[in-house]
Amino acid sequence: MTDPSGGPAGGAGVTATPVDSGPAEADWAAAVAAVGQLPPDGRVLLICHVNPDGDALGSMLGFGLGLRRLGVRRLQATFPGPPEVPESFRELPGTDLLVPATRAYPDPDLVICFDAASGSRLGELVDRLETAGAALVLDHHASNTRFGGINLVDPHAAATSVVAEELLTRLGVPLDAAIAECLYVALTTDTGSFRFEATTPAVHRLAARLLATGIRPGDISRRIFDTRPFGAVRLFGEVLCRARLEPAAAAGRGLVWTYATLDDLARHDQRPYVLEALIDSVRCTAEADVSCVVKQTRPDEWAVSMRSKGAVDVSAVAVALGGGGHRFAAGFTGRGTVDEVVGRIRAELDGAVIGGDQG
Ligand code: 5GP
Ligand code: MN
Repeated sequence: MTDPSGGPAGGAGVTATPVDSGPAEADWAAAVAAVGQLPPDGRVLLICHVNPDGDALGSMLGFGLGLRRLGVRRLQATFPGPPEVPESFRELPGTDLLVPATRAYPDPDLVICFDAASGSRLGELVDRLETAGAALVLDHHASNTRFGGINLVDPHAAATSVVAEELLTRLGVPLDAAIAECLYVALTTDTGSFRFEATTPAVHRLAARLLATGIRPGDISRRIFDTRPFGAVRLFGEVLCRARLEPAAAAGRGLVWTYATLDDLARHDQRPYVLEALIDSVRCTAEADVSCVVKQTRPDEWAVSMRSKGAVDVSAVAVALGGGGHRFAAGFTGRGTVDEVVGRIRAELDGAVIGGDQG
């Protein structure tokens, strides 16, 4: 996801199991051993979160290509739900590893999960945590529930790909251009192309190592961030036109929100994933700290994306409404009408102002 806070900044006490520091040496050693001790024909299943974004797919496919270089032959990558990869990611190296969730190994020797903060983000594939010989979790959400047998969770990492790259290094896999392209897409996605707070010197050093393989950042960025069908451009125009600004919301910090329906998608002949980028056009509103896009997924169901510029902990709002995320980028699934869903958000916002009256 694109998270203007820089992502894993911590959750103001709203997260299930806050993790302050990165993985211990023992965790890294256990992860290296889990890969090293695979039987000769061991089956490895890689899973990333539902509705995968650039970090989910990029860290998973980059790591998968690394495992392939290590000689792992029985290797699948997958994610829950319909096996549709958003257009912008279809040229990522390693997509040949992808299989539909329905064809994923039922009982792999090793399952590795990417960018998922909890088992629920694995949808129907969550059972593999039980059926697999071993379960390894790579993630950077502070709220990660440590649902694997081995957990490499670094809430200070700008992206899950940072964790993936370190594990590849420890496994002795050198970066090549294909691996680097996947990890670069992941890194640029979760740092908002190096704009968010998580963009540390270490992030730029990793970017430098990735670029040194010869990948072309201009081509990659244009494909991932700056390309959409004309129908999506017109759809964005329509949806942005109906945005509403509520300056008094969030105890005066301001809320801007809009919504997109299944009918909007159908009229412009667009797939739901094109709407993922919409929040970036809404959150630039100067007069509001909080921004929100409500996307219809079924007649009575909406996927809600929320962002904050720093005055409001939107993960508190998301958790209160059954979802999760980071402090300044979070989401949940809402039911009812748009007005009902936004009404519930509005009601939670006052109490989520950071340092404000929590009553
Ligand atoms: P986005 O708005 O980009 O879809 O998501 C922003 C953040 O909120 C991400 O960290 C994402 O994992 C989290 N998030 C979005 N929707 C949900 C949801 O329905 N449940 C949970 N637990 N987290 C969500
Ligand atoms: Mn991520």
